[in-house]
Amino acid sequence: MPLTGRYLQGYPPALLAQVQRLIDDGSLAQAVARRHPEPHAVRTDRALYDYVNTLKSRHMKSAPPLAKVAYDARLHLVMNALGTHSAVSRVQGSQLKAKREIRIAALFKDAPADFLRMIVVHELAHLKEREHGKAFYALCLHMAPDYHQLEFDLRLWLTALDPPTPAAAPNRPS
Ligand SMILES: [Zn+2]
Repeated sequence: MPLTGRYLQGYPPALLAQVQRLIDDGSLAQAVARRHPEPHAVRTDRALYDYVNTLKSRHMKSAPPLAKVAYDARLHLVMNALGTHSAVSRVQGSQLKAKREIRIAALFKDAPADFLRMIVVHELAHLKEREHGKAFYALCLHMAPDYHQLEFDLRLWLTALDPPTPAAAPNRPS
């Protein structure tokens, strides 16, 4: 694993070297906060439901309705588990209904507004596209033209929250 940690795998080495310098001098969190200063007020599952549905009706009207939207404290701090989207099948009377749910990792309650927007856009795109392919990112960019920058900055924010363990320092004579 590169020194910059698990959230930034796959980015160009020159970019990672810049990030590493910010980690080393302890200024990564500030750098992210400067770029994304706005907090949000989406504190409850009810507020999150409204927030998600507002974005959905603006950009993804034709996607199936959401049965449930919630913050989930059990989702861990890894990129693939930041949010989950699921189609839960339940028998209702004699009908089998597919229920769509979106769960967002609880740490987003305290994230800058831009990152909540990014992760919600990500999960909404999954209502139509399961895989992280071209069509998926086209949907993300349709909903958030700054999507790629936001995703990179979110990874920086997560790295600042959960920094990689520094490599063991070589022994130096004291
Ligand atoms: Zn995804």
